[in-house]
Amino acid sequence: MTAPGVCPAAIEDLRLSLTSLLAAELTAAAGLRRDLHRNPELSGAERATAAAVASALACPDAPEIAGTGRLIRIGPREGPCIAIRAELDALPVPEQTGVSWASANGAMHACGHDVHLAALTALGRAARRADLPVALLAVLQPREETVPSGALDIVTSPEFAAQQPAAMIGVHLQHLFPAGTVAVPAGVVNAATDDFEITVSGRGGHAGYPQLAADPVLALCQSVVALQQLISRRIDPTHAAVISVGTLQAGHAPNVIPTTATASGTIRTLDGQDRQFLRSAIGEAVAGVCLAHGCEGTVTVVPAEPALVNDPRLAAACQELLGRAGYVVETGFSSCGADDFAYYCAGSQGAGSQGAGSQGAGSQGAGRHGTAVPSVMVFAGSGTPVSLHHPEFLPADRAISDVASAMLAGYLAALAA
Ligand SMILES: [Zn+2]
Repeated sequence: MTAPGVCPAAIEDLRLSLTSLLAAELTAAAGLRRDLHRNPELSGAERATAAAVASALACPDAPEIAGTGRLIRIGPREGPCIAIRAELDALPVPEQTGVSWASANGAMHACGHDVHLAALTALGRAARRADLPVALLAVLQPREETVPSGALDIVTSPEFAAQQPAAMIGVHLQHLFPAGTVAVPAGVVNAATDDFEITVSGRGGHAGYPQLAADPVLALCQSVVALQQLISRRIDPTHAAVISVGTLQAGHAPNVIPTTATASGTIRTLDGQDRQFLRSAIGEAVAGVCLAHGCEGTVTVVPAEPALVNDPRLAAACQELLGRAGYVVETGFSSCGADDFAYYCAGSQGAGSQGAGSQGAGSQGAGRHGTAVPSVMVFAGSGTPVSLHHPEFLPADRAISDVASAMLAGYLAALAA
């Protein structure tokens, strides 16, 4: 499933022609972006979004995959393809941007997926008018924001394998960078994620007679504190790792000690051994703390995405192409964010593998996560200091051009590789 190597002169010719074809698509893409933004759909319900993008790509009848997703192939019908992903789903965030094309349905494209979709559409339409040496596969992916992951469903599907993907390209807006800056790191880019649920069982009773009860609220609060001490005392301080508890639930009355208390949270790690350690250490810490309070604490860990690992050769080629296109290129960016794009990445198959260029088992073909391939995720500066997932997140239309240029660089980098 290796794409045939294309000579540098042909790649440069293609870069110039696709760049000008792309420029001609940007006005229409901005219109599509506003339509998508006004009508966001939540994870798993993105049917109208996928249909609108498939129509704009002149492929309204492309069959659905992974629920509401679509695969749209452009260029040669036979042989390998270079896949580019855009996510279909919005978030359950009530929009507060105040623009005339704001969503009013309680959902919002607060993660920039409207921009990603418009950019992929612009590039796909441009690519239809060019003579592509290797097919471009537009992957319209559902359910990036929830579990079960849309990426995992696509990467394990026979339909995706049948397209013979040789590489996967992803681009995501990033509020930490100004417009005109892109980040293309090699190696580990995003953290591996595991979610967890804590249940503390105690003995309920009268709040004025705590000596007769076993208070699960206090035991749970102490457990949450103990989890932060796992990070500060048990993890190598030169390694990034995060435990965040996002929910706490207990009790119904101020004067009643409840019988149980629950919490849930997420673990983020960049190192595979840290990931394994924290998965078990959280259970031990919670059980021990709760025992000291006369309660019983249990933890269920729900594994999610592996670490996202950029292929070093694709990353290097993207850096070069985006620098030539006039972008400021950052190479040292990584975060404890997570993205299910990791499932596409052959380099992520070691699940939380550590370090630039580390490659897990099954670097290509049917591995633990299906058809994982050499992949690269590029981050494009959103040009707004408002963070992703915020109700006022609204990058300017220029972001469409920047994301599309990064997608084009990814396609060309895969041709070169
Ligand atoms: Zn996103």
